[in-house]
Amino acid sequence: MTRVTADKALVLFSGGQDSATCLAWALARFAEVETIGFDYGQRHRVELDVRPVFLDAVRHAFPDWALRLGEDRVVDAGIIGTLSETALTRETEIAMQANGLPNTFVPGRNILFLTLAAAVAYRRGIKHIVTGVCETDYSGYPDCRDDTIKALQAALNLGMDSRFVLHTPLMWIDKAATWELAEELGGARLVTLINRETHSCYRGERDGLHDWGYGCGDCPACDLRADGWSRYVASHP
Ligand code: ZN
Repeated sequence: MTRVTADKALVLFSGGQDSATCLAWALARFAEVETIGFDYGQRHRVELDVRPVFLDAVRHAFPDWALRLGEDRVVDAGIIGTLSETALTRETEIAMQANGLPNTFVPGRNILFLTLAAAVAYRRGIKHIVTGVCETDYSGYPDCRDDTIKALQAALNLGMDSRFVLHTPLMWIDKAATWELAEELGGARLVTLINRETHSCYRGERDGLHDWGYGCGDCPACDLRADGWSRYVASHP
């Protein structure tokens, strides 16, 4: 059992598999956990819609966690959508760019989100900031890499004269291990909840239910999620 500290945490919760797992990770560790999401003019609103549904489901399924789960807020980060031409913020096909990054990369997004989260944490007296970024099994986004997060932690602490700790529980694990972590934290109940109530699909599709959850089944986010699920299931016959 993980020991619960008296500290408070703020979890960047997007409504996807990774941040939902990070939320459970924080609820298993910290006395008070708040959540923050960002409306950045994303083409598909589904991930914002699933957030309150998932939070309610967690409260019902895990009474201990419900006691620690505090306020949720959605912050308007629409400015980032107006500044960038990406497949997540414009009607554009998902494609690889000349620089080797997919056009689903929204420049500055995670840097802005973590900065806004730190501003909220500062006001709320919260030391721990938790984000689901990962550089193991990912789309190559440079703002998800460990070096970026470490540099940002230093910059935020200098710029706000604070001692924030940026936690990245998924940084060095792949998507199959992310399902494993969910199972360790909340058993089959949490795995099912994340499977059914979170959203990863870049196309915002929520009609087709697959064994790994809802999604179009052929965008890069669905591919990663499906592949991780099949490897997780294969190791748990
Ligand atoms: Zn998809």
